[in-house]
Amino acid sequence: MTEAPPVPLVPPAELAADVAAVRAFWADLGLPGLFDVHTHFLPEGIERRVWAQFDAAGPKIGRPWPIRYRLGADDRVALLRDMGVRRFPSLPYAHRPGIAEQLNAWARDFAARVPESLWSATFFPEEAAAAYVAGSVADGVEVFKVHVQVGEFELDDPLLTPVWGLLEDSGTPVVVHAGHAPVGNDHTGPAPLTRLLRRFPRLAIVVAHLGAPDYLAFCDLAAAHERVHLDTTMVFTDFWGTDYPDGLTERLRDLEPKVLLGTDVPTIPYPYAHQLEALARLGLGEDWLRSVCWGNGLRLFGDARESRVTARGWSQ
Ligand SMILES: [Zn+2]
Repeated sequence: MTEAPPVPLVPPAELAADVAAVRAFWADLGLPGLFDVHTHFLPEGIERRVWAQFDAAGPKIGRPWPIRYRLGADDRVALLRDMGVRRFPSLPYAHRPGIAEQLNAWARDFAARVPESLWSATFFPEEAAAAYVAGSVADGVEVFKVHVQVGEFELDDPLLTPVWGLLEDSGTPVVVHAGHAPVGNDHTGPAPLTRLLRRFPRLAIVVAHLGAPDYLAFCDLAAAHERVHLDTTMVFTDFWGTDYPDGLTERLRDLEPKVLLGTDVPTIPYPYAHQLEALARLGLGEDWLRSVCWGNGLRLFGDARESRVTARGWSQ
């Protein structure tokens, strides 16, 4: 096997410009910073394998995808802090059975080390899931992530029935990569989540990437279910493409309290501020941006955070 050629890193001066652009965005809106509900941190070895998929434009990726924020975890935390991203999750996700608990143990340490992060966990359809999810909820995990595009499972797999029941009762938000993008499979699209919400209508779901490309169907789910939200991750950027259905902008105006800023840092192929510009150019106004980039995240997660800080005696 030949060594892959080294991947060029973004020069420090460019990173400094990225930081300045992000700070200018929230300062102009009069916000104290940003609430980003969709960033990823993984154990180093796993992260390296995920990034290799991006570098190779692997089958789950489907196109060249240069990773802009290819930094170690500590440097990435420092970068987000410099940018004024005040809250962000680690969102590990399991691509096969038997690894969720190991990811969750790692994410627990990350949350303890990075007190402003949203304490994250994941699960997979497997016998042990009900027990370890119950444990995570009892411990105070603030957000779960599941990824049916990568994990290739049904959201309503019978092994997950007790898990969804538990999460409906706890109200813990679950970021779900449910949509077909970037490369769909038999388990992606609006149908599985629609079935799940028929059985568990009070679940606090955050639909990643606005459910791309079936935006309107996922907007319908958000409109019909009190606790279903949508994250903006990568949507409306130049990289993502311009194929949006008529009426989507108006739907997002109506759904203002349910739309949450997400970015997918570190694996984005453009500067962080481009995601913010992409939202601004929808023309929905400054109040909408303030809700999406700060207020909505705070409302959905804020209380849980306060109780976690109090319970563990962590400083703000
Ligand atoms: Zn993601």
